[in-house]
Order: sequence, then C-alpha cells, then structure tokens
Amino acid sequence: SKVVIVGASHGGHQSILELLSRYGQNVDITLFEAGDFISFMSCGMELYLEDQVTDVNDVRNFRPENFPQPNVHILNNHEVKTINADTKTVTVTDKQKNETKEYPYDKLILSSGVKAKALPVPGNDLENVFLMRGYNWAKKIKAKLADTSVKKVAVIGAGYIGIEAVEAFAKAGKEVVLLDALERPLGPYLDKEMTDILTTQLEEKGVKVVTGAKIEAFVGDTKVEAVKTDQAEYPVELVIQAAGVVANTAWLKGIVDLDEHGWIVTDEYLRTNLPDVYAVGDATLAYSIPAKTKLPIALATVARREARYVVAHLFEDIPSEPFSGVVGSSALSVFDYHFATSGLNSFTAKKAGVTLSSAYYEDTLRPKYVPAKNGNPKVFVQLFFDKLTHQILGGAVLSTYDVTAQGNVLALAIQQKMTLEDLAKADFFFQPGFDRQWSLLNLAAQQALGEEA
Ligand code: FAD
Repeated sequence: SKVVIVGASHGGHQSILELLSRYGQNVDITLFEAGDFISFMSCGMELYLEDQVTDVNDVRNFRPENFPQPNVHILNNHEVKTINADTKTVTVTDKQKNETKEYPYDKLILSSGVKAKALPVPGNDLENVFLMRGYNWAKKIKAKLADTSVKKVAVIGAGYIGIEAVEAFAKAGKEVVLLDALERPLGPYLDKEMTDILTTQLEEKGVKVVTGAKIEAFVGDTKVEAVKTDQAEYPVELVIQAAGVVANTAWLKGIVDLDEHGWIVTDEYLRTNLPDVYAVGDATLAYSIPAKTKLPIALATVARREARYVVAHLFEDIPSEPFSGVVGSSALSVFDYHFATSGLNSFTAKKAGVTLSSAYYEDTLRPKYVPAKNGNPKVFVQLFFDKLTHQILGGAVLSTYDVTAQGNVLALAIQQKMTLEDLAKADFFFQPGFDRQWSLLNLAAQQALGEEA
C-alpha cells in the first residue's frame, strides 16, 4: 500500500516510525515537507538558544538518512498543493525545480501543523520583528542573542514559547520586557496562585512584566524602535512575537472540512471527511479526556499519540476503537522554578465549558525539620476536580526543586479518571531525602478533601 504523509514534524515522524514498526516492507511511504530543513524540533529551540546544544542542525526529530529503507521516501522542498480525492492523488510542487507532479496514495496522513502568527498591527513587517518557530527563526534569534547592538528586547506573548524567549534573552544579558494581553503571564497554563509566584520570579530576574497590554503598533522607519501599547511605548531593538498561531490549512480550503478557525475537522477515528485521509497534530483539535470535548492542545506529545493511533488502525475497514484522547501535559522552567501541568485549569475549563473546583496546597518538599538551605524548598500543588464526583480533571506542581515528574503522576490520574479519594490514599514512597511521610500528591488530595495534614 502507498501511504503519503504531509509534514515532517512530530506527527509525520511518528507516522513513519509506526508504519515501519507495524507493516515493515509492506508499505511504501512518501513524506512531503514544504520546508528545506527536515524536522526542526522547536521544542528544543531554547536548548539551542542557550548553547546547551550548539549546532542548529542537531535540533531535529530525524534526518532523512535515519530512514535508509528503500520503501521510505522523504522529500523536502516539496509542497503539497491539493488533494484529488476522486483519483486518490496529491498534487505536489517541487519548489527547487519548480515542477508540479501528482503522486498516488492509498492512505493519506496530514500533519501540516501551524505557523507562528504575526500580530495584525502596523509595523509587523519592520526589520527585527521576529517570530519563534522553526529552523530559520531559530538561527535569526540566535544571532541576535550575540548582537551587542541589541540591548532591549520585547517578547509579545507570555505563553510557554514567550517565556522560553524571555529566559534566553535575559540570560544573554538583554533588558527584556514581556507583554501580554491577558492579566497573568502563563495564564492559560496555571492558576493565579502559581502565576503570582512566577511573576515575582520573572521580576526578580530583571524582566519587566506588563499584563493587560493591547499591542497597537511596532514603531520604526526600517528597523523596529519601539512597541506601542494602549498604555505606553517601550523602546526596543528587537521584538519576538509569540502570540498565537495559524493552521497550515489554507491549501485544504474547499477540499477538506475545516472549522471556522481553520482547524481540520476529524471524527473520533481521526478521519477527515475524505475517504482514507486522516489528520493529526497541531492542525487539528485534540480530544481532551477531562474536558470530554475537542480543544486546541498544541503539543508534540499529542501529535505523536494521534499518529500512533491512526497508523495502528490505518488498514481496518472500520477502526476497532476510537482515539481515546489525551490529557495535555507540559512542563517548563522559569529561571529557578520548574512546573508541570496536566489536564484542565480554571482558564481552559472555562473555555471548554467545564465547571470545576480547585484546591491549592503549599508545603515543604521534605520533613519540616530539614532546613531550607539543606534542600528543603517549598512545593506548590494545584488540583482541579469535579465538585460532585471528585474526579480529577487537572493539576499542576511547582517548585525550585524539580518535582515535574509528579506532573506525570497527575496525568495518569486524570487519564484513568481517578478521584481525589484515589489520590489521597495512593501508595507512593516515602524517603526523607526526597519527600514527606505522605507524598506530595497524597497530601494535596487529602487537603482538598478537607482532611488535616
Ligand atoms: P508542525 O510542527 O507544525 O509541523 C508541520 C510541518 O508540515 C512543517 O514542517 C511544515 O513545513 C509542513 N507543511 C505544512 N503544510 C505543508 C504542505 N502543504 N506540504 C508539505 N509540508 C507542509 N510541544 C511539546 O510537547 N513539548 C515542548 O516542550 C514544546 N516546546 C515547543 C517550543 C516552541 C518554541 C514551539 C514553537 C513549539 C513547542 N511545542 C512543544 C509544540 C510542538 O512543537 C508542536 O505541537 C508540534 O511540532 C506539532 O507537530 P505537527 O506534526 O502537528 O506539526
């Protein structure tokens, strides 16, 4: 069978791996990638910007030569222009040769993802107004980190991509202002108790945090010189825009069903409206287990789980089971702090129309008699749950100690639809070098149930 894949990022890569592991030589795989560089890993961009990985060419999911199998064809600079469902072919332009050809498919997997969006304000085409996604922007951003003429940097968007930019520039000695339209940095990821801690941390590290800011324009003649908001003007030499994305689906308009935002519409088997055409990753909405609905959860983890599912059921007439969904888990460092978050929070629940209760827990990592200076920092836990059933719908952990693995415990609890009662009694280890007599999540759940710790 001929399987065609569109996009060489997480979804495309995982599709190849799954196809080879399940069907070996019995499938002929062709992957088309519009870009020149195969599979840049934006998730690894901060490591590159901060010199933890020095060669940009290493920041990738795979190289074409990782798949020497004769039945795998990976073609960069090949943009898929359209799908011809009646003949089961795709029309593809070789951008280097400027040639357009048709390629047949039996099965087609779309993982065309998203691109970073420029703000629709005057001056967004000025020099030194950047975006943060992909190989080319990574190289440009890296050059500016070393450029001594760049002293002041504005980062627009305080999501995790913006925060990664902030850290890289602050650590490079630049003066950084972080601007967001929302009232709290990382607002869509964490509730207020935790964003308050992280806002203080950002400010302690010299970052100016401006929330509730409406960007009106980027000011300058040829190069950007200032960011103008509804309240003030900030002089800068560089702007990093990390405020939103747009799906790479314009080419599918009128061919594949898209929703009003341009996300590819899929059913519970991740099939599009066209026969034998599937879609995964950022270009689609993901089924959220705790929200019981589809949400934009733009994570590599999601794209990979979806691709794994699609390939497993690719040759079944009727897939034997629907895609079970994802929880949506992520982790991030904000200077000295590390957090992990999973499932819903107050912000995402509201967007999804889910009502939830929350509980916030604060403690020391290890027994209280261990002094803070000997490695006993504060730890913070947020739990979100259904008021009636106590089913855990989300949660987050935060500390200067790396407690992010606890985020995966929460992810499992959410995925398995466990309750506060389950978490309160779960049999976790105790070792005073690492934790308390009851483990952190036991204590947080017990407190949420109104028990005395
Ligand atoms: P994308 O990565 O968006 O890639 C789509 C690919 O398809 C592109 O290469 C594009 O050129 C190609 N394409 C599009 N249209 C066509 C066409 N018509 N023909 C041919 N090719 C086409 N996620 C995590 O889970 N953890 C992290 O730590 C993390 N960190 C991140 C940090 C940054 C700075 C960014 C920007 C993202 C981060 N993400 C992270 C999110 C993660 O990168 C995405 O969720 C993931 O890349 C989505 O994969 P995808 O396959 O859906 O598509």
